[in-house]
Amino acid sequence: MVKTYAYGFPRLGKQREFKTLIESYWSGKLTEEELKEGIKNLNEKREKTYRSYVDAFPQGEMTLYDNLFDTALIFGIYKADTLDEYFSLCRGKNALEMTKWFNTNYHYLVPDFEGKEKEFSISWNKHEEIKESAYLIGPFTLLKLSKNLPEGKFAALLKSLACKYAEYFKLNGFKSVHLDEPAFVMELSDKEIEAIKDAYSVFEDIDTKINVFTYYDSVDNLQFVFDLPVAGVGIDLVHDRGENLSQLDSVDPKGKTLFAGVIDGRNVWRADLFEKAEIVKKLSEKFEVVVTNAAPLFHLPVNLKGATLPEELVAKVAFAEEKLKELKLISDVLEGDDAKAKEWVEGISKAFGVRENVRERVRNLTDEDFNKAVPYAERIKLQQEILKLPLFPTTTIGSFPQTQEVRRVRLLNRKGQLADEDYKTFIKGEIAKAIKIQEELGVDVFVHGEFERSDMVEFFAEKLEGIATTGNGWVISYGTRSYRPPIIFGDVERIEPMTVEEIAFAQSLTDKPVKGMLTGPVTIIAWSYCREDIPVSEVAYQIGLALRDEIADYEKAGIKIVQIDEAAFREKAPIKKRNWDEYFDWAVKSFRVCHAKSKPETQIHSHMCYSEFGEIIEYILAMDFDVISIEASRSKGDIIEAFEKVNFDRQIGLGVWDIHSPYVPSVDEMKEIVERALKVIPKENFWVNPDCGLKTRRWEECIPAIRNIVKLANTLREEA
Ligand code: GLN
Ligand code: ZN
Repeated sequence: MVKTYAYGFPRLGKQREFKTLIESYWSGKLTEEELKEGIKNLNEKREKTYRSYVDAFPQGEMTLYDNLFDTALIFGIYKADTLDEYFSLCRGKNALEMTKWFNTNYHYLVPDFEGKEKEFSISWNKHEEIKESAYLIGPFTLLKLSKNLPEGKFAALLKSLACKYAEYFKLNGFKSVHLDEPAFVMELSDKEIEAIKDAYSVFEDIDTKINVFTYYDSVDNLQFVFDLPVAGVGIDLVHDRGENLSQLDSVDPKGKTLFAGVIDGRNVWRADLFEKAEIVKKLSEKFEVVVTNAAPLFHLPVNLKGATLPEELVAKVAFAEEKLKELKLISDVLEGDDAKAKEWVEGISKAFGVRENVRERVRNLTDEDFNKAVPYAERIKLQQEILKLPLFPTTTIGSFPQTQEVRRVRLLNRKGQLADEDYKTFIKGEIAKAIKIQEELGVDVFVHGEFERSDMVEFFAEKLEGIATTGNGWVISYGTRSYRPPIIFGDVERIEPMTVEEIAFAQSLTDKPVKGMLTGPVTIIAWSYCREDIPVSEVAYQIGLALRDEIADYEKAGIKIVQIDEAAFREKAPIKKRNWDEYFDWAVKSFRVCHAKSKPETQIHSHMCYSEFGEIIEYILAMDFDVISIEASRSKGDIIEAFEKVNFDRQIGLGVWDIHSPYVPSVDEMKEIVERALKVIPKENFWVNPDCGLKTRRWEECIPAIRNIVKLANTLREEA
């Protein structure tokens, strides 16, 4: 009989209990005891869900913030003696930096070795009560995702860390452990593989059985994982481009269990259970197979109950709990019981959401749809004639504070307790206030403030055909912060203008240019669940065309600048760099579809949040915008270096205010960033702006900070 296993089930809870519990503790409404009790109950519920479907699952997956951080605490990279110390490392002034976890939209806390002791120690026994199968992130992934490791010491550090893991296993007497090693799917050097082999050799003579799990992509040299002294190997057979499966033909199992990840942990589509069962059957001829999910399930909402999706879509979709059910159904099929599985897959191949006109439009795209007729050098002159911007133009990135009041009123409208007309009037009132504030502060290019948007992706998902929103499908993006990824299920079409009314209203109140504000195709796709029945490039072009129509309407309404946000441009890139060209090809082209046909005098901006910019600067240039704003204040140095490498001829606003912190920077502090950048970027090309949108900040911070931004621009102009 084929056994089933699952891991990574969401900790958030159906009613977002996790969020409520922790935030209540933060605000003093819960004591530490009450918090721990609540989390324990929540975890019991999670484990009960596992138990109703699968044979086994790891224990100790629950964390109060982030599992990579917990692992760093266990092995003494950080120390927190109290719960408050723990949380102070997660958030607030002394917090660790946060970054995206592989190519997902989950963020982890980045362990920083700067000034740290080089000796590991067991500083926290997180798994004291666990005897069976303990969950941990593996030593390689922990180190690989850390920063500022002492140079040339990776192999030695890894080995000493692995020794501590072995000690930890012995200390607790675990029967088995589940070690997550997603970093095994990165493009590893021979040296790194040697280091892993050497480090893992310390597990050779311990009693604990180790099962190591890889996911999000294929492992380039799968045999090496099977050669490690482990009992089982978990692999991703969904997001591996077939590369794992084809290697299995020649892999020597060496007596190890194969945890075959056949059920998608990242996307919501129901699996063809019969096809999956076939794969498992075939693998079973050679391996001892356990059927499992292909990636942790926390990328999915808890379950489908209460989701506000059309019926035809529900019949195609599975969230985390339903994925567990799929694992069970595969094992049923293998046992010869396929009635339920048949019923389950009935809806998956039924066409739904097809729009022939949209398909046709994408089919007819030609070079002209991707390439602007007028080159940048001429465009910028035309734009400047109209805009007449001073040197060092000032602007902000789009959103202004989403105050309690704004959120309260939106909720009322959503619940049907406030009529749409009244809601619109309220939003217009907020826009008018924002315009007045920008006027008083003397900003050069205005934004309307995005008060009508709950979220930069969900907002467009609600307006566009072919994308569904779930109502209650919450997923953690970091800490207690959660969002509801929409589902792109059909052909995407814009039926009517989505944002023009608000932008045009804002523009009617001022002589300064107001930016039209859009979320780009890549970001909409990255922060949604995307259909897989057509190539993702086609989905991206469909969205690009919808945005193109919106820009045409902006132009008719007299809007002179349009910003297309592509916050996820870097994060969506495949883990393996050898697959980058293919991805960036459509990513860049989908952006160009948005604006290739817009007037040359319409100034196109893009905005990106911080990413390792240097590596992708050529692709960014290829997007062919006129101006880009990027987050820079947190890591000034490397960003500026990136510009030295290429002939970056566009205008750029490097963020001078780190909006992730409530701290209001002084003019001098901001000036320092600009001065460094000005050594590389000509002053004629320089904008002054914050790092990112201001929706999480308070007006009390925004007003003085923007005032300083304007002062800085004035000083720079005087000195120029
Ligand atoms: N325009 C968006 C805003 O200001 C951009 C947000 C982002 O880049 N994450 O909120
Ligand atoms: Zn941003």
